[in-house]
Amino acid sequence: MTTEQKINQLREDLRQHNYNYYVLDAPVISDYEFDVMLKELQVLEEKHPEFYDPNSPTLRVGGQVTKNFETVVHDHRMYSLDNSYSKEDLLDWEKRIKKMVDGEVSYTCELKYDGASISLTYEEGELVRAVTRGDGIQGDNVTTNIKTIKSVPLKLKGDFPPKFDIRGEIVLPYEGFAKMNQERIAAGEEPYMNPRNTASGSLKLQDSSEVAKRPLDCLLYNIIGDRLKIVSQLESLEKAREWGFKVPIESKKVDTIDEVLDFVAYWDEHRHDLPYETDGVVIKVNNIQQQEELGYTAKAPRWAMAYKFKAEQAVTVLREITYQVGRTGAITPVANLEPVLLAGTTVKRASLHNADQIEKLDIREKDTVFVEKGGEIIPKIIGVDFQKRTTDSVPTQYISQCPECHTALIRKEGEAQHYCPNYEGCPPQIIGRIQHYISRKAMDIEGLGGETVALLVNEGLIVNYADLYELKKEQVIPLERMAEKSAENLIAGIEKSKEIPFERVLFALGIRYVGETVAKKLAKHYKNIDAIVTATEEELVNVDEIGIKIAQSVKEFFDSEKNKLLVDRLKQYGVQLEISADKLANQTDTLNGQTFVVSGVFEKISRNELKKMIEDNGGKISSSISSKTSFVVAGANMGPSKLEKASKLEIPIISEDDFLDKIT
Ligand code: AMP
Ligand code: ZN
Repeated sequence: MTTEQKINQLREDLRQHNYNYYVLDAPVISDYEFDVMLKELQVLEEKHPEFYDPNSPTLRVGGQVTKNFETVVHDHRMYSLDNSYSKEDLLDWEKRIKKMVDGEVSYTCELKYDGASISLTYEEGELVRAVTRGDGIQGDNVTTNIKTIKSVPLKLKGDFPPKFDIRGEIVLPYEGFAKMNQERIAAGEEPYMNPRNTASGSLKLQDSSEVAKRPLDCLLYNIIGDRLKIVSQLESLEKAREWGFKVPIESKKVDTIDEVLDFVAYWDEHRHDLPYETDGVVIKVNNIQQQEELGYTAKAPRWAMAYKFKAEQAVTVLREITYQVGRTGAITPVANLEPVLLAGTTVKRASLHNADQIEKLDIREKDTVFVEKGGEIIPKIIGVDFQKRTTDSVPTQYISQCPECHTALIRKEGEAQHYCPNYEGCPPQIIGRIQHYISRKAMDIEGLGGETVALLVNEGLIVNYADLYELKKEQVIPLERMAEKSAENLIAGIEKSKEIPFERVLFALGIRYVGETVAKKLAKHYKNIDAIVTATEEELVNVDEIGIKIAQSVKEFFDSEKNKLLVDRLKQYGVQLEISADKLANQTDTLNGQTFVVSGVFEKISRNELKKMIEDNGGKISSSISSKTSFVVAGANMGPSKLEKASKLEIPIISEDDFLDKIT
C-alpha cells in the first residue's frame, strides 16, 4: 500500500467509526483504538502535507482561530416558522392549505429542537460551508467550528445529489451541558445559563479547539436544492439519514390534525426523556410538490407550522433580592419568591445572575414576575408584569459592598460578575475554600461537613485548610452538636485525607479555573507540586488543554507567599503533594475503551476509590447510562430508573466483586 492509500484508508475508517459513534450511537471499536488510529493518521499527515484534505477526520479537533467571521448570503433564504397555539389555529391552517392545493394532504410531525439553526452546503459529497441563520438572508461562515462537531459528516455516504444545502439545529444535550457546568462550578466559574444559548454562543467562538471540546450535536431536518428527486418530507428525512446525517427518529407521518394533536400531547409529556431540549413540534406538509405550490410568505413557509409546547412558567411575587458570596468572592443576586408550583416542584428562589440582568429586565422587589424553568436546574425570572407594579416601587440598587464583610466590590473589565476582593478576610470565602477542600470530589473528609467547617471558622479554631491538620479532639468536643465520638471521627477523617492522591489535593486547593479535569492534567504532567509552583506561564500553556486563563490563575495562586506557605504546611503534615510511586506502578490499560457507570453504595471500597480504580486502569466514567456504557457497577440501593435503563439497553450490571475480579 502506498502512503497515500494508507492515509485514505485511515480517513475512511475513522469516518465510519465516527459515524458509528456519534450518529448511530453504536461504536464497534473502543475509544482507545479510535485514538490510536487518529494519532497514526495525524503523524502521516504531518509528514505528507501533499495529501492535505480539508475534510480529514484529524481536523475535527480544531485549532484554527477565526478573528472575524465572513458574511455569506444564503443561496436559499432561511425562513422562520409561523406559530400556532390551539387546535383552532391548526384547523385554520389546514383550511388555508386545502384551498391552495389539490388532492389529499398529509403531514409530518417533527420535534422542534431548541438550539441554533445552521445551513450546511455539500458539494460532491463534501462539506464545503456551514453558515448561521443570521437575519435569514445572510449569516456567518462558521465552517471551521462546525467541522469539530462530530455528528456533522464531512464526507457523505450513499447516493447523494451533487450539490445541496441541508438545514438543521446545533444543540447541546443536557448531559454535556450539565457536565460543562459542573466543571465550571468546580473551577470557580459562573455556570452557563441554558443549553440553547451555550450552543449558539459556541458557534461564534474564535478558537475552534474550544468548540471541539464542547459536546455539541447537529440534528438535521430539511434538504434544499434543485432537481433532488425527493417527493416527500418523510423521504427527505430518510435520505438524509442514509447519507450519514443525524436525523432524529421521532418524526412521524400523519393524515389529520387530530393525529397532529396526539403527537403534540405525547411529546409535551415525554420530551423530558429526550437527551436534548425541544420547545415544540413542527408540522410540515409531507408532499414536496404541494410544498412548492404553497410557497412562502415574507417570513415563513406556508407549508409548515410550529406548535410550541406550553412553556413551564409561573407567576409569583418577588419578595426580596439577597446576595450570595461564593468561595471565589463572586457575588450572585438571588430572587426570594413567594413559593409557587412550577413543573412539579415548589419554587422559592430564582437566580438573577448579575447586575446587568437585573437592570435589563428592570426587576424590583415586590414586583410580580414570570418564572420559567428551562434546561437549567435553578429557575429564572424572565420578565416583570409591569401592570402590577405599585406606585411606591423603587428601582433596584445593586449592592456596592460585600454583604458579608462590607468591602467595596470590584468588577473587572469585561466581566459580568461583581467580586468581593477581600480574599483573606471575607468569611464566606474563607469558609467556602475550606468547604471545597473537604468536599467529596476533593479531600472527601469523612466526619466533617460544611456546617461544622463554618462553626470551626466562626469559633476561631481554623482560618484555612492547613489548620485542619492541627485540630485537637479537645478543641472540637465543646462545639455545638459535637460529642466525644463525633470529634474522634472528625480527627480520624482529617488524618485519613493524607492518603488522598495528589491530583485531588491539587483540585482541593481551590485554584480558580482548576477543576477536576485540569487538576488531573496538571498532576499527570508535573508529577509533583514543586514542579507546578516553579512552572512559568509559558510552560503551563504548553501542557495539553491548559489555556492562558488557567495558566495565569495557577501562576497567580502560587505567586502568593501565603499560598506557598499553606502548601508547605500541607507537605509537612504529610498530605500527598506528588504522584506516589505506587500509584504510577498501579496504572494499567486493562479497561481501555470501556465506559462505566457507578451506582449505589459499596461495601469494600468507597465510590471514589472505585472511580479512581476505573480511571487508573484506563476506563472511563460516565454519569448516565447510554448505549455507550460497557458496564454498570452496582452497589446496594441502585436507583430504579438506572436499573430500568440498563436492562432496557441490555447493559451488563456487575457487582463490586465482579469489578475487582476484572482488574486483578
Ligand atoms: P422560530 O425561531 O421560533 O421562528 O422557529 C423557527 C426555527 O425553528 C427554525 O429556524 C429552525 O432553526 C428551528 N427548528 C427546530 N426544529 C425544527 C424542525 N424540525 N423543522 C424546522 N425548523 C426547526
Ligand atoms: Zn466579602
